[in-house]
Amino acid sequence: MDKDVHQGFETLAIHAGQEADPTTGAVVPPIYQVSTYKQDGIGGLRGGYEYSRSANPTRTALETCLAEIEGGSRGLAFASGLAAEDALLRTVLKPGDHVVIPNDAYGGTYRLFAKVAEPWGVTFDPVPLNAVAAVRAAIRPETKLIWVETPTNPLLGIADIAALASVAHDAGALLAVDNTFASPYLQQPLALGADVVVHSTTKYIGGHSDVVGGALVVTDPGLGERLTFHQNAMGAIAGPFDAWLTLRGIKTLAVRMDRHCANAEAVAGMLSRHPAVTEVIYPGLPTHPGHEVAAKQMKAFGGMVSFRMASEEAAVRVCERTELFTLGESLGGVESLIEHPGRMTHASAAGSPLEVPADLVRLSVGIEDVDDLLRDLEQALA
Ligand SMILES: *Cc1c(COP(=O)(O)O)cnc(C)c1O
Repeated sequence: MDKDVHQGFETLAIHAGQEADPTTGAVVPPIYQVSTYKQDGIGGLRGGYEYSRSANPTRTALETCLAEIEGGSRGLAFASGLAAEDALLRTVLKPGDHVVIPNDAYGGTYRLFAKVAEPWGVTFDPVPLNAVAAVRAAIRPETKLIWVETPTNPLLGIADIAALASVAHDAGALLAVDNTFASPYLQQPLALGADVVVHSTTKYIGGHSDVVGGALVVTDPGLGERLTFHQNAMGAIAGPFDAWLTLRGIKTLAVRMDRHCANAEAVAGMLSRHPAVTEVIYPGLPTHPGHEVAAKQMKAFGGMVSFRMASEEAAVRVCERTELFTLGESLGGVESLIEHPGRMTHASAAGSPLEVPADLVRLSVGIEDVDDLLRDLEQALA
């Protein structure tokens, strides 16, 4: 295929980094379950591979595809989203540096900053990222990174990526965007000015709740080189089978996301009209404070819906009464999940600036028959 022709997202997702195998013609990159490679004389590497921590062909296929679908120059695949975040922090920060993070970040991201980066000597401030002025006010001379999550987990707050990119760059800092909730199909942070995209590929990118993984994608080749050095030096790489599963997930990302978004919109609409629900939080609703920014920077509004009940007991009761929505953590798989953030995913944020309301319920709306999903929620709310 002519490499100079601009290809659409769905085409890149299926083909980027995935030429037919040169020896067998296999149309899908094989799982290269191998640690080391025969050398033709010392240093005579056949395909550039010497040891699978440094590089492995299945991982290379995934990393190439990730770079292409995020519009970056380099993609890197890690053992988990948090391994990717850790590699990023150790590459772009040093003790004495300061970071601005969302006051509604993924709990594990907050824990990484609070329990790992801070003891190492990096300070941070949690700030509401929907208030650009508050982010600007939090910047110090030693601020080296602004960390963005949009939409956020679990309150689905929206941050203006382009506006925050200019705040970061005016301060000589980098802008990292955790694009896990949107996925590259719905939102392209690098095109909006971000320097680094972070993913938990465990979620929408993998899409089937069968693999844990993480990724970084960058525009600047120099930063790509430094991250690649750290990926090899620290070693938290994605294994070949995990890389293969993730690559398989990416092929259907676009069609899955379309259905996730359509089903979530229907669920948000039903919940908005339900008398037992006190508030529905979905960026697609015109009442959501980030609706306009989301409409500007996202193709559609995603598959996550949060809502509040009259009390913690009522929220817990709904979570325990659904039959099709499975009670469980994580998100982004084809099957629908329900959870109580206060007692589950965000229990570790209790007492911190990231504590979530006790009456909150979070849904990861799957791609099942939408009428079945609506019926299940209605019986659980009754
Ligand atoms: C799950 C998640 C992470 C962490 O990823 P793991 O793959 O679980 O390590 C980071 N950010 C967000 C937004 C997440 O949902």
